[in-house]
Amino acid sequence: MRGDFVNPILVWYNQQKRDLPWRHTKDPYKIWVSEIMLQQTRVEAVKSYYQRFLETLPDIPALAGCPDDLLLKLWEGLGYYSRVRNMKKAALTMMETYGGSFPTSYDKIRSLPGIGDYTAGAISSIAFSLREAAVDGNVMRVMARLENSREDILKASEKRRVAQKLKAVMEAVPPDQDFRPGDFNQALIELGALICVPNSQPLCQRCPLKELCISHREGTTDAVPVRLKKTGRKKEERTVLLVRDGDKTAITRRPDTGLLAGLYEFPNLAGRLDEETVLGEVRSQGLIPLRIKKIRGARHIFSHVEWEMSGYEIRVAPAEANGDWIFADQHQIEKTYAIPSAFSAYAELLSVRTGKKGKKS
Ligand code: SF4
Repeated sequence: MRGDFVNPILVWYNQQKRDLPWRHTKDPYKIWVSEIMLQQTRVEAVKSYYQRFLETLPDIPALAGCPDDLLLKLWEGLGYYSRVRNMKKAALTMMETYGGSFPTSYDKIRSLPGIGDYTAGAISSIAFSLREAAVDGNVMRVMARLENSREDILKASEKRRVAQKLKAVMEAVPPDQDFRPGDFNQALIELGALICVPNSQPLCQRCPLKELCISHREGTTDAVPVRLKKTGRKKEERTVLLVRDGDKTAITRRPDTGLLAGLYEFPNLAGRLDEETVLGEVRSQGLIPLRIKKIRGARHIFSHVEWEMSGYEIRVAPAEANGDWIFADQHQIEKTYAIPSAFSAYAELLSVRTGKKGKKS
């Protein structure tokens, strides 16, 4: 691939890029925070999270020392909580191995927990001006259309091929030319987000690359890129219990590993359970149920599994907390306990605000 598109896309980016908070910094920590948040989450939703996260945890030592409950609370509503757990692990690694700073080579950045090819490329190119590609879904779509490629853009081998090509394009830019690899990567991403859009007609008439684009020339933008469907998600039924003692409601902490690890939830059980089974579960916690009523159902879609939830509200007699359940009022839940958005339908019934819904799906 030739590099004819480097200058037009950089000119376009300089004139048209959105003014986003993380575009005003070269600090690798801040760029990292933004890049991890932007995975799976819309730009508009990320802005307020980004600001709050950096105010609370302004640097690597602060993140490394952050208690898990506060960390999850800062992430509440963003979803995919393993992202922030891995950030803390990476921060601890940087404290131990790199004196609390980001390493400055692509390979060392790539080896940190939770940092894949894309994020390593973004940090290396934006913060350290290294000629490394940052290939996300936007870039794959733009490149597939530019080349009129019929390869499946979800395939890892295709992503590697595109990354190698883009790296070669960057390396071919003469060293004496004013060239910022971070801007080049962000320009491709921005073009995919604003002009070469998915799920509708790309805005080719406004595209700086239209003279070079084979899909545009051949009228194939409807068919390109090719994305072969993934296999279906597993479906699981859950029964959610709102167990209420006065103005307090039972919550419990999820295990330290697996889906939504370490977050808090309303007690819930596998399957679609009847009242007798639910009451038996409540009694097994040493509680005396007074009333039970059925409440709304809800669905939540994770990347690999889908929860189909049914629910009951159970009023119980005042009692000392027993077993794994914690009884907390609305204010305590909002302030202290991170409840994942999977339970937001049930939190709403209690007027409990959980994190904003920022996920794409
Ligand atoms: S010309 Fe159209 S299809 Fe080609 S890169 Fe630009 S927006 Fe995408």
